[in-house]
Amino acid sequence: MDQQLDKETRRKLVSVNPATGEILREFQCASEGEIRAAVGRARAAQDAWNGLGVRRRISVLRRFQRGLHEIKSEVAAAITREAGKPYAEALVTEVLVVLDAARFLIDKAHRLLRDEPLWHGNLATKLKSGQLVREPYGVVGIISPWNYPFSIPAIETLAALVAGNTVVLKPSELTSVVALELQALLHASGVPEDVFQVIVGDGAAGSALVDASIDKLAFTGSVATGKRIAVAAAERLLPVVLELGGKDPMLVLDDADVDVASSAAVWGAFVNAGQACLSVERCYVHRSLYPSFLEACAEKTKKLRVGNGMDPQTDVGPMVHERQLRIVESHLEDAKARGARVLVGGARLKEVGANFYAPTVLADVTHDMRVMREETFGPVLPVMAFDDDEEAVRLANDSEFGLAASVWTRDRVRGERLARRIQAGTVMVNDVISCFGISEAPHGGVKASGVGRTHGRFGLEEMVRLKYVDSDRVPGMKKVWWYGYGEKFRRQMNGFLDMQFARSLGQRFRGALRASGILRSKKL
Ligand code: NAD
Repeated sequence: MDQQLDKETRRKLVSVNPATGEILREFQCASEGEIRAAVGRARAAQDAWNGLGVRRRISVLRRFQRGLHEIKSEVAAAITREAGKPYAEALVTEVLVVLDAARFLIDKAHRLLRDEPLWHGNLATKLKSGQLVREPYGVVGIISPWNYPFSIPAIETLAALVAGNTVVLKPSELTSVVALELQALLHASGVPEDVFQVIVGDGAAGSALVDASIDKLAFTGSVATGKRIAVAAAERLLPVVLELGGKDPMLVLDDADVDVASSAAVWGAFVNAGQACLSVERCYVHRSLYPSFLEACAEKTKKLRVGNGMDPQTDVGPMVHERQLRIVESHLEDAKARGARVLVGGARLKEVGANFYAPTVLADVTHDMRVMREETFGPVLPVMAFDDDEEAVRLANDSEFGLAASVWTRDRVRGERLARRIQAGTVMVNDVISCFGISEAPHGGVKASGVGRTHGRFGLEEMVRLKYVDSDRVPGMKKVWWYGYGEKFRRQMNGFLDMQFARSLGQRFRGALRASGILRSKKL
């Protein structure tokens, strides 16, 4: 036992600024015992939190929203320091998105969570009234990644809390400081300490949280970890939402505006240094536009300024750590060996810092290359030509992933028609990535990109159990389908079925007479 404790106390985490290598803070990993205790406290606090009612919880969210707005610059700076993204991106893709998610819940949660009457169509059950009741799960565990260290856990947490759950969050081991900022802000807004708790830890701590007695899990991260979690969750039938990786295709059709689409491709591939689940990871361009599109992408990429995200001139920040850089390098090596052409970039920028990689545009890529099949999660834009819409759809769907996609065309109807044929949780016509900032829109994937949804109405629905309450309007009446079977019962039930479902009006009428016992002939 002591040995085990000793092993646990020796697990240390270090939070580092990826742009400079500066150590921001050191942590000790939460032990299994501490994680179980946190879940226990969350469980004990849940009744009182749920008992407050939705309106009072909404007022806490309102205080959170105001508080976040007041310290938006500090939060954005903390995100940039720990995750590396340019400050402007931290403000727009993290702080703004969370402010708006709070706005959505403040406006809509009461209506979406209230009981809903359920109409009965079956005549046999007309004397009963039904209601759908949405109940919190209890304790929701959230495990989040480092690439959107504020918005991902915050959006899921706000939905879980407003629905009456308590939350235990295990953030990425790389971005604990930002998670603690979120915790401080929630507590300052009136969320009791045991209602929202952050446990700092690594993968093993995440695994311990899955094994603790949580009632629901919202996990965001890689496909590999997601699969491990799905197995562990299956053991105890723990309901899970899995938001996993992506390999999002961008389809540039023959009538697209090359200038607009190339700007979108460059931003979509390099925002957050390509470390976004919704990044443009594969770009397919109609052969007639291929040369001009490549030229435009190369020109725009050359102009990007790579550096520390705190510098207002910076467009692209560092990658988060060495492991990510190595993945990018291995994808590049493989692509070059198989005949891809590097138009821009293709190497580390050691003169800028240890974690910087040059935004890279690749031409002549094929589906044999890892860069077109595996999640690269770095600043790489591989571009491939296609001949017609059929081929474009086939290439887009030729992937194990299915998070999001985009279609570029001047003809919206054509774009929307193609969107329906692409296997993805979201397809945007003439835009990339911004779906994440539409608080009403569900976020989530198909195929290996995950199970379930976060954000908006459907994200809120994930945080509640649906209960059906059925109540009889005539409590003193025995039901006709209870025991007492016999010839009369059979005749009446046959009639009852005819009355509702027979083809002709005449048959239905005769069925009604038999059901009521007015007509007794078996032949009728
Ligand atoms: P990751 O899978 O390595 O880690 C994610 C989280 O899981 C971290 O908190 C980590 O500590 C924890 N973890 C690791 N092993 C665990 C285990 N066995 N049990 C429980 N928890 C464990 O992913 P990452 O590198 O932090 O994030 C990048 C990945 O996340 C990419 O694949 C990206 O596409 C994906 N992502 C998906 C979405 C989405 O919404 N679909 C959003 C952002 C990121």
